[in-house]
Amino acid sequence: MKFKCPYCHTQRNPSSASRTIRKLGSYYRKSDGQHLSRFWCFSCRKSFSAATSSPLKGQKKRHLNKTVCDLLTGGVSQREAARILKINHKTVVRKFRFSIATAKEELKEWNKKFPLCTEVEFDDLETFEHTKCKPLSVTLMVEYSTRRILGFEVAQMPAKGRIAAFARKKYGPRADHRSQARKKLFSEMQNFVSPIALIRSDSNPYYPKDVKRYFPKARYETILGGRGAIVGQGELKKLKWDPIFSLNHTCAMLRAHINRLFRKTWCTTKRADQLAGHIALYALLHNRRLATG
Ligand SMILES: [Zn+2]
Repeated sequence: MKFKCPYCHTQRNPSSASRTIRKLGSYYRKSDGQHLSRFWCFSCRKSFSAATSSPLKGQKKRHLNKTVCDLLTGGVSQREAARILKINHKTVVRKFRFSIATAKEELKEWNKKFPLCTEVEFDDLETFEHTKCKPLSVTLMVEYSTRRILGFEVAQMPAKGRIAAFARKKYGPRADHRSQARKKLFSEMQNFVSPIALIRSDSNPYYPKDVKRYFPKARYETILGGRGAIVGQGELKKLKWDPIFSLNHTCAMLRAHINRLFRKTWCTTKRADQLAGHIALYALLHNRRLATG
């Protein structure tokens, strides 16, 4: 076996083990029933094992990592997941945070495997953090033909409508980060979307300028939004033919699978970054399912 010391990066050399790294017994990992060898590094005088440099180091319920993700992307709340798996709710939170740390990168890597998209749709999905007075906007881009999620960006926005004045009074003015987020998303999407693609969205007055800037050669179509259907999470529209159906269907799926995005739920987002992680986690699962059919 060839490996290095995780501390000083000394290469192991079996022919001169007494000068590099030698074995130092083994131990049994109770949580998943594995026997692991320990080693001793002569140059830095430290011991280590195969688990030392593992990202899973210190996890005692590593066998539940995938199940927790499956539950949380299947519409189960964090507390309900803890009850189902008979573990502490803080363990669920830790596992959730551990999984979302790499989810957005993984989503990018996944999308790199496909040829450039020639027809895409994008729009905003609205939710909130902590209270309806602090809305969040999720700009999402999907491929038209497959409904594959290409990317998304979460941004804060000020409250609108009847609640706006109250929100300003209670929480002060809230900056609008939607434009920045859209630009960030579009610049990232240049890696996945063909420059001459057909791009579709609803008719928001701010969209055309940004599309023109990042996709100057693309064909851009806007459509008028319809009223929400009774079923369909308010995302599926009461139209005979919804031109941005792929996007609205994906938004409805987010609303059906991520508890904090349910219409009428006790669960709310407390932190925007974790909402982003949660969506990335779901997007990965969503895209994998689409690929396997
Ligand atoms: Zn060492």
